[in-house]
Amino acid sequence: MSAAGNQRAEEAFVRFDKVQKSYDGEILVVKDLNLDIPKGEFLTMLGPSGSGKTTSLMMLAGFEPATHGDIYLGGESINNVPPNKRGIGMVFQNYALFPHMTVAENLAFPLKVRKMGSAEIETKVQRALDMVELGEMGGRRPAQLSGGQQQRVAVARALVFDPSLILMDEPLGALDKQLREQMQYEIKHIHENLGVTVVYVTHDQSEALTMSDRIAVFNDGVIQQLSTPDDLYERPQNSFVAQFIGENNRLHGKVSGVSGDECKVELDGGGEIIAKTVNNTATVGERTTLSLRPERVEIEPKKGQTDNTVTGEIKELIYLGDHIRTRMEVAGNDEFIVKVPNSAGNKPLAEGAQVKVGWKAEDCRALDPMAI
Ligand code: ADP
Ligand code: MG
Repeated sequence: MSAAGNQRAEEAFVRFDKVQKSYDGEILVVKDLNLDIPKGEFLTMLGPSGSGKTTSLMMLAGFEPATHGDIYLGGESINNVPPNKRGIGMVFQNYALFPHMTVAENLAFPLKVRKMGSAEIETKVQRALDMVELGEMGGRRPAQLSGGQQQRVAVARALVFDPSLILMDEPLGALDKQLREQMQYEIKHIHENLGVTVVYVTHDQSEALTMSDRIAVFNDGVIQQLSTPDDLYERPQNSFVAQFIGENNRLHGKVSGVSGDECKVELDGGGEIIAKTVNNTATVGERTTLSLRPERVEIEPKKGQTDNTVTGEIKELIYLGDHIRTRMEVAGNDEFIVKVPNSAGNKPLAEGAQVKVGWKAEDCRALDPMAI
């Protein structure tokens, strides 16, 4: 480890430094992971199944050794520290409460292991149960609780010994949608109240957007982008991120001009439009994928309202109350979605109609420019 590497590690509470993992000695399922997490942050690892999220969390917890690189906690390398000495609280999808113990005994267990006195154990258990609003349930067994309550016990058990870091791996995956959304807010509020550092794993982008200070978007063992929820949505750096976070329309074309941080693109399906470049990387002649959010597209825009207009055909209208989900064919893409607000002034739309669609250059990003 270099002196510079050590110094940076002191600034971050959790630090992955050039971490790699292979289970079979050949394929790297985590490739050169570099990630600094400041104290008190709620950091989410978000990505599709198999992208290396759980493996990264298991290396931080100490259950899987890294094949290469260093992991630091509070400025110290923890490569050789066993899991039970890392002082990390953990919550998993299968919350694995002991069925023969009461809720209070389940919570007391990690404290007894730490040889804490019984008066202190009682205080800490009650405080942790109050935190998840199960103050009255200490005497019940897990089977006498609902799924949501059991999951809250699992959260309380992770909090009970005051860890400075809590890891959660898809903790809400087994719950139904309504309960999952309620628990997202509860966990977020516990984080805010305690100021504890949380590293959270999910494949659900709306869960990540709801809960996180920052999100690391994983694909194929690599962080594609690390940023705040709004930055990932507004300024995706590549089309994987654009597609994974929120809803996205893709159009393909060729860069025909570059000026500052904007470029002109000839669409494969016909027409030329203006888009924002990412990190000024576009070059004339390259192929690019354009990314455009469904709520940033106007049907029949007024003059001057948008920078770009092309003609499209309305294929399908779906009434969703607050907006009309309009599927169109635009520049060769017949899954082009426009969200039309259901407001009083909007003209009715008809399936099969040819209409103009428009959008601002700043709402359209030219991603993944590739030389051909
Ligand atoms: P995620 O949590 O993002 O779904 P994982 O970290 O679980 O991804 O898995 C990443 C890759 O590593 C996958 O290809 C998976 O099959 C493989 N993998 C995970 N755990 C093991 C293991 N214990 N032994 C061998 N391969 C594993
Ligand atoms: Mg996983």
